[in-house]
Amino acid sequence: MTVEQVERDWFENVMVPCYSPMEMIPVRGVGSTVWDQAGNEYIDFAGGIAVSCLGHCHPVMVNALTEQANQLWHLSNVMTNEPALRLAKRLTQLSFADKVFFANSGAEANEAALKLARRVAAERFGAQKSEIIAFDQGFHGRTFFTVTVGGQAAYSDGFGPKPGDITHLPYNDIEALRAQISPRTCAVMIEPLQGEGGVVPPTEAFIQAVRDLCDEFDALLIFDEVQTGNGRTGAFYAYQNLPVVPDILTTAKSLGGGFPIGAMLTTDPLAQFMKVGTHGSTYGGNPLACAVALAVVNEIAKPDTLAGVKQREAQFREGLLAINQRYPIFSEIRGQGLLLGAVLNDAWQGRARDILVAAGNEGLLVLVAGANVVRFTPSLVISEQEIVQGLACLERAIASLYR
Ligand SMILES: *Cc1c(COP(=O)(O)O)cnc(C)c1O
Repeated sequence: MTVEQVERDWFENVMVPCYSPMEMIPVRGVGSTVWDQAGNEYIDFAGGIAVSCLGHCHPVMVNALTEQANQLWHLSNVMTNEPALRLAKRLTQLSFADKVFFANSGAEANEAALKLARRVAAERFGAQKSEIIAFDQGFHGRTFFTVTVGGQAAYSDGFGPKPGDITHLPYNDIEALRAQISPRTCAVMIEPLQGEGGVVPPTEAFIQAVRDLCDEFDALLIFDEVQTGNGRTGAFYAYQNLPVVPDILTTAKSLGGGFPIGAMLTTDPLAQFMKVGTHGSTYGGNPLACAVALAVVNEIAKPDTLAGVKQREAQFREGLLAINQRYPIFSEIRGQGLLLGAVLNDAWQGRARDILVAAGNEGLLVLVAGANVVRFTPSLVISEQEIVQGLACLERAIASLYR
């Protein structure tokens, strides 16, 4: 049988047009370097949107996957399995949580968190306690519940009646939260550093006020750490850099390092509100996913890996500031660890996408977060040399736009 050559225009022919992918098709990756069909090389500062935390095809992941692939692929939740139990135990050791629910994505982990919060409030306090407070520009996934909790109405409009009793407030606005939160509030869902919304960190006073107000009104605090989790900010979870602890935490993206998995973490008293049959997932806790995630988590949790994130952050910040001295384009570099946003200055408003395209032409993969922020979420173990090479590509890209 001859293997048919794949062409980029198949995308228009056979794919539901939800996306607008780049023209090149990557076929291979090692570390933070990727090659396309034509053999062109790219440095990967995107990391599959904060997913490929150990780069591409890291031996730790390849070994875990192949070992498990020869052992057992899938059962069902009628049985439990060793990789799921090992991973759950490890996640409880690494966080405040006592209990873990496995899902397959960030949205599903958030769906579980929101359902748990609604169930807890209804059983403890009654049906009137159902308000979910979330924040403008927040992102929580694309299921109908999570996209409605997300802070961009454009993503949830046009699908008919929405899940109800969801309020959106400005991020970092203590007074707005104080004015809205009430005994009717069931939960507050927040990213402890907004990713998609523009790489916006919370002020310490704000995040402390969120925790205090949740306590005052018996509302659960849900941290969506789908993007910030698993070492991304230099702590294993971002809340560990903050003065507060959530009641529920969701994680996905880097958790599997490229293998689909998500998880909701919570305390034992809250977990008890989920009874047999309350919630579930066919693939949640799949042995392949959990075996890979355990290997990834063990690699990330090493003190050297986490310290390395801080070193790489410094290298990125220095490099971006140096580019900015030669080609003034950014007003600020914000974010934490290897979730960084370069904010465009007044003269470059709206041009983040142009920079992404120009970078691609120079052999560099980057991301945007809105129209005015160029976002970097590379592998947590990207080499010093790859950072140097990628920053050189970025400088060439910016220089080409400057002309
Ligand atoms: C990516 C993301 C999600 C959605 O994750 P999926 O795996 O795409 O469902 C949810 N929350 C945050 C903060 C994210 O960055």
